[in-house]
Amino acid sequence: MTKKPNLRELKTILDERRVSAGPSVLELHSHDESFHAPALPDVVVWPYTTQEVSRLVRYAFKHKMPVTAWGAGTSLEGNPIPVKGGMVIDFTQMNRIIAVRPEDFQVDVQAGVIYKDLNKTLSRDGLLFPPDPGAAATIGGMIGNNASGIRSVRYGATKDYVMRLVVVLPGGDIIHLGNRARKSASGYNLAALITGSEGTLGIVTEATLKLVGLPVNFMAVRTTFPAIFQATQAVYSIMRSGLTPAAMEFLDANVVHVLNADRGLTLEENPTLLMEFYGFSEQGLREEMQFVEEICLENGALSIDQGIGAEERSRLWDIRHQTYESIKRHHPELSPLIMDVAVPLSRYSEMVDFSKETVRALTAYLFGHAGDGNIHVHVMDNPHDPKRWAKVEEATRLIVMKALDFEGTCTGEHGIGIGKNRFMPVEHGESYELMKRLKAWLDPDNLFNPGKFFPL
Ligand SMILES: Cc1cc2nc3c(=O)[nH]c(=O)nc-3n(C[C@H](O)[C@H](O)[C@H](O)COP(=O)(O)OP(=O)(O)OC[C@H]3O[C@@H](n4cnc5c(N)ncnc54)[C@H](O)[C@@H]3O)c2cc1C
Repeated sequence: MTKKPNLRELKTILDERRVSAGPSVLELHSHDESFHAPALPDVVVWPYTTQEVSRLVRYAFKHKMPVTAWGAGTSLEGNPIPVKGGMVIDFTQMNRIIAVRPEDFQVDVQAGVIYKDLNKTLSRDGLLFPPDPGAAATIGGMIGNNASGIRSVRYGATKDYVMRLVVVLPGGDIIHLGNRARKSASGYNLAALITGSEGTLGIVTEATLKLVGLPVNFMAVRTTFPAIFQATQAVYSIMRSGLTPAAMEFLDANVVHVLNADRGLTLEENPTLLMEFYGFSEQGLREEMQFVEEICLENGALSIDQGIGAEERSRLWDIRHQTYESIKRHHPELSPLIMDVAVPLSRYSEMVDFSKETVRALTAYLFGHAGDGNIHVHVMDNPHDPKRWAKVEEATRLIVMKALDFEGTCTGEHGIGIGKNRFMPVEHGESYELMKRLKAWLDPDNLFNPGKFFPL
């Protein structure tokens, strides 16, 4: 039994306005964007500094109270849901960009900075922090989930941009991990261990992130195919050709149908690929465009629409950014379960075909970061109808098992949260035991985000 927080005592650590057990505040921090059952915390706190986070964690540990870090709550697997109540540390007030270092392509930030705001600031110096999960995520939440997104086919995931972290450990000690050198072969990579650990091993308060230069010129392509297999084969052909897309997204015909219905569009309702390429000169991009067109036609493309420049990119790509919301609006009475398995590129076609077949009898949409071998199977259903939901869960199991057969993973980017706990032992085998030992050593009372990775 965990002890309820003593608000008066907490208010000696933070001023009154930054400690709340008000019902609406607790409700807001009881759920993320997933269908997973909400769980109320006992108290929510908003620190400004690393020292305050450390003192809050010390207080919580003294009282054996669970502590869950909270970014923007946009996760899709229940990752920040405080399943055992306790204290939620909300990072939205720790949102300072501490130092931009254009000469080093680096930035120091507090964990609560929203990555879209960060990129607005960085664009003044011609710089970009490339991982882009789409939602208004915080850097802390992106590090927690090792988020990636549309551009990861070119730039990789959040883990590839974390250079240095300030972390509060279970118990409250503050440690500094990593360095600012462009390469390092020194010791265990503990910053990489924290990245993707969903707040179960440490709470990130500050980060130094690697940056890249903003691309100079863009080319966008939207192309359709008669069948999914041809679209996914085109993905493989393009990736093998030596071209380097900055983004390569797949949408199935159901997704295009919903986009048409929701946004009054008249797009061809066929399997579709969206691609983006970066380059210095229009001339170079035009040559690439021709090559892409040839490959798509060889794979049976029905239509190819393409253009150069930021406006063309928006015209051809805007639909991708609307996908999640359009599906949600199309089924206001249902909840989404989103699988996000990833497999080696050579198995992508088979993975997508298998997924499509497995969810044939369900209300399902397939889309995803095709260039990364990552497919989102987005099923809309009612989690409160046990019979129906059992079918959704079984489809999830079959799809994950197939991805593991293909030597892939149960999650390319959304993380484990609550939803994928059951697949951890299957995916990781004996290394799951090592993860358990590591967690037990660092956090013996299981107080940092309990119930994630390791079921309660
Ligand atoms: C429309 C939509 C599209 C999405 N698309 C993508 C996508 O393309 N790619 C992708 O990767 N994700 C995607 N997501 C999921 C989600 O946006 C990302 O995982 C994001 O990184 C979560 O950030 P957040 O700030 O909301 O974190 P939260 O959801 O608040 O937290 C995420 C996890 O990190 C932990 N955490 C939060 N802050 C810290 C901290 N300071 N220190 C340590 N741990 C912390 C939390 O406890 C939790 O376990 C999408 C979500 C939505 C709603």
